[in-house]
Amino acid sequence: MTAQPLPAVFVGHGSPMNALEDNAYTRAWAELGAAIPRPRAVLAISAHWYVAGSRVTAGTAPRTIHDFGNFPPALHQFAYPAPGDPALAARVHELLAPTPVADDASWGLDHGAWSVLCHVFPAADVPVVQLSIDDRLTPAAHYELAKRLAPLRDEGVLIVGTGNVVHNLDVFRGGAGSGPPGWAARFEERIQAAVAADDVRTLVDAPEHAPDAALAVPDIDHYLPLLYVAATRRAGDSIAFPTKGVEFGAISMLSVRFG
Ligand code: ZN
Repeated sequence: MTAQPLPAVFVGHGSPMNALEDNAYTRAWAELGAAIPRPRAVLAISAHWYVAGSRVTAGTAPRTIHDFGNFPPALHQFAYPAPGDPALAARVHELLAPTPVADDASWGLDHGAWSVLCHVFPAADVPVVQLSIDDRLTPAAHYELAKRLAPLRDEGVLIVGTGNVVHNLDVFRGGAGSGPPGWAARFEERIQAAVAADDVRTLVDAPEHAPDAALAVPDIDHYLPLLYVAATRRAGDSIAFPTKGVEFGAISMLSVRFG
């Protein structure tokens, strides 16, 4: 147990290349790791583990998954050898009950998790468990499920959601120009304002119903990790936005820290 509750953090992870780069985003992630109390473990909710059902990585040595193609060899060979934490995996089972959670031995740490965590905890010495995102649930159901994870913040666990509140690879691949298109910046601004105002209804409804949502959130997998983090917010949490900005005309790098 830690003396003070840990923050909960949503990170806009952007390109997998951030794992290898030194830029304003990766420096902010490193500063975050240095600024917070050292957690006993991380529970990561990544956009890239979006499957039917709730699963946790339950092994002691989760493998580094290279779930992408056509990047430089250095990225395909990248390893983030953080240990697992079977006790935390078991605790997630308890907290999410009666929702069934399956122990998963085939997944590991995907790039949504390790491309960020390699900067937050570069020594890879903080154990990491990943929780999948059940692709059958509505945003509201995700939010309600994630509320049950909130006690982990008092148990030395850093909850990290990793996705992007704006994520449109079709526009990205199409080459939308260098400046952020209006819709991407507007949507990022809308979400930031909703977080700042603790406007849960907007956070839950925005990916399906807000203006610009069809372009900003064509698929919901990258948005949902924000709801997992927002659901663990508590009264009195400070709110900070360590990073922000639209990359490639289509990816929001907005990050949020509660507490
Ligand atoms: Zn991603």
